[in-house]
Amino acid sequence: PPLHRQRHQFVIDFVKRNKPLKVLDLGCGECSLLKLLKFHHGIDLLVGLDLDGAKVKKKMHALAPLSTDYLQPSYDQLRLELYQGSVTQKDARFRGFDLVTSIELIEHLTLADVERFSEVVFGHMTPLAVIVSTPNSEYNPHLPGLEGFRHSDHKFEWTRAEFKSWALKACVEFGYEVEFTGVGRAPPGLQECVGFCSQIGVFHRLGGRGGGNVSLNDGAEEVFFPYTLLYS
Ligand code: SAM
Repeated sequence: PPLHRQRHQFVIDFVKRNKPLKVLDLGCGECSLLKLLKFHHGIDLLVGLDLDGAKVKKKMHALAPLSTDYLQPSYDQLRLELYQGSVTQKDARFRGFDLVTSIELIEHLTLADVERFSEVVFGHMTPLAVIVSTPNSEYNPHLPGLEGFRHSDHKFEWTRAEFKSWALKACVEFGYEVEFTGVGRAPPGLQECVGFCSQIGVFHRLGGRGGGNVSLNDGAEEVFFPYTLLYS
């Protein structure tokens, strides 16, 4: 399957194993991952956030309940919301998720904004688990015809060491542990040298359900709702 499909399948497999109830997809774009997740019963809240509201609106109506959905006994358990907003801003409503996914998003941010992303996602949202995927630049020489970055909007593409160093810093700062993996295998022999085409970090909050810093919004900090609801 194509790479974008493999990244989404990675999330689906994680969802099947870990059964999160509340899932947030950051940089959801045209909602293709949300469309796949909609059919995973067990999820009761599915939320998408993207900076580009027009892009979200393009295909969001495909997420509307089908008449046959109402026949599923479990159907009314699912609530789906789409928001326009930036992952660099904290929104007081966006806490308490079991899983936050960020698929091919961080490389579209400046490095200063990647630091804000860490603070917002790990420090403010404090979900149980986070899946972050980003290009592995060590693989680039093996992509035929590629010069420079994989996409003109990318602000950076990281080696495995660079990704690891960012991820471990976030773990130490905000109380997470991380495992590194990926999708898009190189041919045998090359795989060991260059790694996966898309690198993925799977983060778990230390201490699980009891581990979050719940004192962050205890009134000492002002509460903001900067994201705009587009669809519910
Ligand atoms: N996650 C989707 C996927 O796997 O198909 C789309 C990935 S697309 C390459 C990156 C998305 O991130 C775009 O839809 C873009 O609008 C969004 N994005 C860029 N900067 C953002 C920000 N600061 N906050 C939220 N979304 C952002």
